[in-house]
Amino acid sequence: MRPKLVVGNWKMNGSRAQNATLLAGIVAGLEAAGAACAVCVPAPYLQQCADTLAGTALAWGAQDVSTHAAGAYTGEVAASMLADFGCRYVIVGHSERRAYHGESNALVARKTVAALDAGLTPIVCVGETLEQREAGQTNVVVSQQLSAVLELLDEAALARIVVAYEPVWAIGTGKTATPAMAQEVHAQLRAQLRQRSEATAARVAILYGGSMKPDNARELMAQGDIDGGLIGGAALKAADFLAIIQAAA
Ligand code: PEP
Repeated sequence: MRPKLVVGNWKMNGSRAQNATLLAGIVAGLEAAGAACAVCVPAPYLQQCADTLAGTALAWGAQDVSTHAAGAYTGEVAASMLADFGCRYVIVGHSERRAYHGESNALVARKTVAALDAGLTPIVCVGETLEQREAGQTNVVVSQQLSAVLELLDEAALARIVVAYEPVWAIGTGKTATPAMAQEVHAQLRAQLRQRSEATAARVAILYGGSMKPDNARELMAQGDIDGGLIGGAALKAADFLAIIQAAA
């Protein structure tokens, strides 16, 4: 059985003081909570995470990464720099980056490769908009998003990624995919991985993201192909984040 993983995506929220309170609250409750967990924070707070979380069970990561290794790319952050801060994870292809920064499937795939090359675990986000769901295009959209990544990875690299299915219409809206709706897409993504190999399909974690909260987390994560959650809003409250980790455990 795949171990469950719960990852908080802080997006562009936080301050040193707020983070200190939030991280202390999460760490204090972690022992009781008992599933693998991490927070993906804005880049300026990576040092704070490295200082605060070293030696705890809460891993940390970033929310984006450059495709480039180093050099004249003003504003970009290289995967090796994230690794230097002790990051284990990096989110790639979040729908907000696809929508507001024009990130294409091909670019997301190259970011995935950059993360893997630096020893990080990329959390590759896929998901359809409401318009696409209503047009019956969900399966095609997510399959194309995953295919772009599959094309660039050999089997060993593929086994090191995490996939997050995040229907865009459910992110930050309070609308959650029903467990059955989410499971259907997760099963399709798993089948796509299975085309590469049974071992890869069995190994890669597929998280659900989109208004996951303490009151719906258990049922979502009880589905056979839902291996945890990528949590936005509820990751900003220690009690809610811990309750979701507890639900995963
Ligand atoms: C996200 O931003 O990845 C997310 C899932 O947000 P929320 O939980 O707030 O919908």
